[in-house]
Amino acid sequence: MSDLHPYGMPITILKLDDSKEAMVNTTDLEKILLNEEIKDRKVMVLSLIGAFRGGKSFLLDYFLRFMYAHYPSLNNPKQVAGSFDNNQNWMGDANEPLLGFSWSSGTTRVTTGINMWNDVFLHTMDGTGEKIAIILIDTQGLFDNVTTQNDNSRIFGLGTLVSSVQILNLNKFIQEDQLQYLRYATEFATFTALDSKKTTERPFQKLTFLIRDWGNPDEFEFGLTGGNYFLKDVLKVQKDHKPELQEVRQSISKSYDQINCCLLPYPGIEVASAKNYDGSCAKMDPLFKKELKSFVEQILLPKNLVLKKINAVELTCSEYKTHIETYFKLFQSNDILKVQNVYDATIDSSMNILIEKCINEYNARISNEKELMDERHISVIHEGSKIVALDMFKNAKKMGTQEHEQKFGDKLKEQIGKIFEEWKQYQLNIIKKNQEKLEAESAKRQAE
Ligand code: GDP
Ligand code: MG
Repeated sequence: MSDLHPYGMPITILKLDDSKEAMVNTTDLEKILLNEEIKDRKVMVLSLIGAFRGGKSFLLDYFLRFMYAHYPSLNNPKQVAGSFDNNQNWMGDANEPLLGFSWSSGTTRVTTGINMWNDVFLHTMDGTGEKIAIILIDTQGLFDNVTTQNDNSRIFGLGTLVSSVQILNLNKFIQEDQLQYLRYATEFATFTALDSKKTTERPFQKLTFLIRDWGNPDEFEFGLTGGNYFLKDVLKVQKDHKPELQEVRQSISKSYDQINCCLLPYPGIEVASAKNYDGSCAKMDPLFKKELKSFVEQILLPKNLVLKKINAVELTCSEYKTHIETYFKLFQSNDILKVQNVYDATIDSSMNILIEKCINEYNARISNEKELMDERHISVIHEGSKIVALDMFKNAKKMGTQEHEQKFGDKLKEQIGKIFEEWKQYQLNIIKKNQEKLEAESAKRQAE
């Protein structure tokens, strides 16, 4: 099966080798997320998670087909934003082999870790005209590399932390113990809620349960409608449920802004088991093809795009990079990925990003001033700019406690102080040089 897609390829950004050693690929993360065209744009991140050979890469490749047919991307900028007409055939020609995220009909695993599509899509929002970036992520082999439910729940948690739309890909059913996957995410949410009384926002944006090979359409019909009824049923708390799963059930709605479920039919024998199946639509069972098309559209239509937020603040690609690197490094250094650590790291990253924004504001204001007169004038400009920067810090939405606010507020003041001292010296030098020049000129005139 060829992976040669004309516009992009999956890049492993977090790699897990057989000894469970995690490696973070900072170089490629930077290359993708700090691209000039997108680094300051808000971002949606779609990720798929689930067990090996569950048809995740296959589905992502159809996501890619939809994306390339409707949105321009960094590597395909000429693509005009497409019509989102229902009848448009974006699924490709009947026999067109599927390309993109490597997927194989054999049994050998391709890569293990988190893979990011290295081409980023752009969407211009209606009304504001603001352009946002859209990123696709595949988790490959993570769930099977680990054995315990705890590990699975943390890997799922990592997936949640790094995405705004997370699809949990499951086979045939939601098994009772699979709800354990959500435990880490719900614990994190509970933790965040306890600590920040200020915000009622949920920490995560969207979770979609996707059930493949659904075998019970008489009870719950295929698609999102049937799926949502089914999910409601699964999430109903009953007395005989394990206490920790009762807790998951109770807190899940407080963890995500949106939760839904989609039931997909069996794709047909060719898709499910043919050794040399190339991913083309011709071999799909027609009912599967119809439901797959409708599901992909439901996730990727402009009105359903969901921006990545942390503590209710939408992130830009460069801020997103800072955050995910933090999470990956935590995961790397401590495969336990404790909720407390992640929470602390999130506060640190968010505060540092905020401080940077405030400093940029301060810098922009002082450097706007030309022809400074004297030290007093310099101080006045500094004080005014500092007030604006500190107000910006004070009024921004923040995570954490009063102590955090104090600590990072002090850090901001200290950094502004340093910049001020340098800037003052620089300006005083200019003033001094100008004065010397004037004096020399006047001395020269007097001598004449
Ligand atoms: P991944 O490991 O989850 O990324 O799975 P792949 O996308 O590599 O797909 C594994 C196999 O499952 C391939 O042979 C696909 O053709 C097949 N497949 C794709 N979608 C489905 C589905 O909905 N049901 C079944 N039974 N097989 C599927
Ligand atoms: Mg795969």
